[in-house]
Amino acid sequence: MSDRATVLHVDLDAFYVSMELLRHPELRGAPVVVAGGLGNRGVVNTASYEARKFGVRSAMAVSQARRLCPQAVFLASDYAYYSKASKQFHAILRDFTPLVEPAGSDEAYLDVRGTEHLFGAPEAVAATIKQRVREEIGISASIGVSVNKLVSKVASDAGKPDGLVVVAEGTEAAFFAPRPIRELPMVGRKTAEILGGLGIHTIGDIARTPESALVAKFGRHGADLRTRAFGIYDAPVVSSRGDAKSISRDITFDEDEPDGDRLRAVLRSQAERISHELVKSGKAARTVSLRLRFPPFETLSRSVTPQVTTDLADEIYSHGCALFEKAWDENERRPVRLIGIGVHNIVERARQLRLGETLEADRLQDTVESLRDRFGDLTVRRANELRSPYRHHGPDYIPPFTAPKFDAELPGSAAAEIGHGDGEDWE
Ligand SMILES: [Mg+2]
Repeated sequence: MSDRATVLHVDLDAFYVSMELLRHPELRGAPVVVAGGLGNRGVVNTASYEARKFGVRSAMAVSQARRLCPQAVFLASDYAYYSKASKQFHAILRDFTPLVEPAGSDEAYLDVRGTEHLFGAPEAVAATIKQRVREEIGISASIGVSVNKLVSKVASDAGKPDGLVVVAEGTEAAFFAPRPIRELPMVGRKTAEILGGLGIHTIGDIARTPESALVAKFGRHGADLRTRAFGIYDAPVVSSRGDAKSISRDITFDEDEPDGDRLRAVLRSQAERISHELVKSGKAARTVSLRLRFPPFETLSRSVTPQVTTDLADEIYSHGCALFEKAWDENERRPVRLIGIGVHNIVERARQLRLGETLEADRLQDTVESLRDRFGDLTVRRANELRSPYRHHGPDYIPPFTAPKFDAELPGSAAAEIGHGDGEDWE
C-alpha cells in the first residue's frame, strides 16, 4: 500500500432499495424497483441488482421498467426515510476525517492522509467504515481506495456490491486498461458508441489512441478523456462542511430525452426538492440556474437573479422553466442528455410578504414542508399531480434524481453543492 493512495470513494449499494429491504425483508432476492411516482411519468430511482438483470436502470421511465420487468415489486420513494440514513452515513464518515466531500446522499470522497496514527492505513479505515455502515445503518457500502477521486470512483463501482478495492499508487493505468470504456465516468452511451465506431472498447484502448485522433472527434474533451484513461486526475478532495453556497439537482438520462413535458416534469420535481431543502434550513436563494447538456458533451448553464430571494418551489420552477424554454429553443429543441436546476447566493430567510402574496400561501408552504418531513414526500401533492390512474400507489410524480454517472464532469466538479449526485446511481 503506497502512502499516497489515501483517497476513498464510499458509495452505499443500491441505497434506496437497500433501505426498503431493511423494512421489507420478505422482498430480499426479488426484483425491486424504487421509483418516484409509480405512474407512467414516474422515474426509477434505484433498481435492485435482481431487477438490473432485466435491464432496469435508474432514470428510466417507470413504464419502461414495467415492460422490462413486469414481475418486479415497485415501491414509491420515501425520501424522508432515506434522508435520515443519509445523515447517519455522512456523520460516520466525518468521524474519520474532516476532509469529506459529499457527492450526493449516498456517496462521498474522503482523504484520510495524516490519520494513520488514529485509524491505521487507508485500507483499514475503509474496512472500518464498511463495518460501521453495516452495523449502524444496516446496509452495505462499497469503497474504492487510490491516489485520486477518479480512480477511487471507478474502483468502488468495480467492487459493487459490498466491495473494497484498493488501487496502489502507480498501478492506476494498469487497473483501468482492461475495463470497458463505460466505466470511465465521463463516457456516456453516445460517447461509447462513437468510441466503439473507432474500435475503442476498453479504457486501455483510449490510452493507446493518439490524442490528436480523440481531439478530432471530441474537441478539447478528447484530451481530457485520454489523460483520464491513464487514471490521472488532479482535483483534490474538498471538504464542504459549513453552509452550502448552492443547492442543485440534476439528472442524466440513459436515453437522450426528447419530450418537453417530461423535461418540465423533471424540473418541477427538482424545484420541489430544492425548495424543501431551503425551507428546512431556513434559507432562501437569490439566483436560480439551469443546466442542460446535449450529447455528447455540450453543456450550457443559464441563470437569473430576480429582485427578491425565494424559497418557493413554484418560483424556483417558473424561473428554471423560463430559462429552459429559451435555451431549448435556441438549441433546436434537441433531445437532452442532462437537465438540472440549482439555486445560488443562498441567504438566511428574511422574506417579507410581497405585493399580492398572501400569508396563507406562506403558511401553506410551511405546512406542506412539515407534513413532508413527518410523513414523507408522498403525503402532500398538488391537486394537478393527482391525475394518475395509479393514484392509490401515489401520484404521477417524477422525483428528483441525479446523474447515475457523472458524464463529462468528473468527481468534485460541483464540490460545494449539496445534492450533487443526490439520487441513486446504478452501481
Ligand atoms: Mg450508491
